[in-house]
Amino acid sequence: IVQWTPFFQTYKKQRYPWVQLAGHQGNFKAGPEQGTVLKKLCPKEEDCFRVLMKDVLRPYVPEYRGQVTSEDGELYLQLQDLLSDFNQPCVMDCKIGVRTYLEEELSKAKEKPKLRKDMYEKMIQIDPNAPSEDEHKAKGVTKPRYMVWRETISSTSTLGFRIEGIKKSDGTSTKDFKTTKSRQQIKQAFREFVNGFQHAMPRYIQRLQAIRATLECSDFFRTHEVIGSSLLFVHDHYQASVWLIDFAKTVGLPENQQIDHSSTWTVGNHEDGYLIGINNLLEIFTELESE
Ligand code: ATP
Ligand code: MG
Ligand code: MG
Repeated sequence: IVQWTPFFQTYKKQRYPWVQLAGHQGNFKAGPEQGTVLKKLCPKEEDCFRVLMKDVLRPYVPEYRGQVTSEDGELYLQLQDLLSDFNQPCVMDCKIGVRTYLEEELSKAKEKPKLRKDMYEKMIQIDPNAPSEDEHKAKGVTKPRYMVWRETISSTSTLGFRIEGIKKSDGTSTKDFKTTKSRQQIKQAFREFVNGFQHAMPRYIQRLQAIRATLECSDFFRTHEVIGSSLLFVHDHYQASVWLIDFAKTVGLPENQQIDHSSTWTVGNHEDGYLIGINNLLEIFTELESE
């Protein structure tokens, strides 16, 4: 059980422990305006938010309120706090896509592919059978090999999404989903997430359908490779909703390059599998609803 509350947030005179399910703890702070949080500035992410505020996806992302300099002189993005309209919310972060690194990160890793003992060790800790005979002999794997393999230990490469973290109504939170891979394991985690909140599942499904329909006509989505971005699911006893968050690794597609977000990714084709993830999420949620 991990309790991860970087700070207390205040909204409408209520004080509540803010929930952060991913990222470095120092990346977030309470915002200066009511109902906002500050996320450490990443210029690429700011570019995305600027475009998103004018895109059809705007209702499905946190509102971007501009840059803020903190007391310590660091630059932050001021974002709508998606938790502020909820009462003791349950929160889940699902990272969408069939890979979580950029094409350029992979090609950079391929430049001088040294054998890495540390990555070999990490690999055998999770699956002693993962390395090939040669890799076992060398007690090392290359970084690109490790990057591609790492996406296969969770549901990322197969289902096009993985659970990053969940905070449930009993206050417990876990980020221990690194090897949650099978449809059955995922289903069980979702079941526990909505347990006791019957109204949440149909609302999540409706909202995901709206998100999918909006993605289909979004200029932003058409022109970007969406990597490492998440859907943030939030519910309490009254409401349930989902938003797209985290655009730190979302980049404009190279000119003349088009993707459909659901074709198989092969090195260099820039496909991100975003719609594979959305479709699998919708399918699994729909199955759970009819249980
Ligand atoms: P990583 O790249 O490791 O996923 P990050 O530093 O880019 O992390 P985010 O993924 O944007 O950070 O956010 C981390 C967590 O903070 C999310 O899982 C969510 O719990 C919370 N969070 C982020 N943005 C918001 C928001 N606008 N409102 C409420 N909660 C948020
Ligand atoms: Mg994230
Ligand atoms: Mg991120």
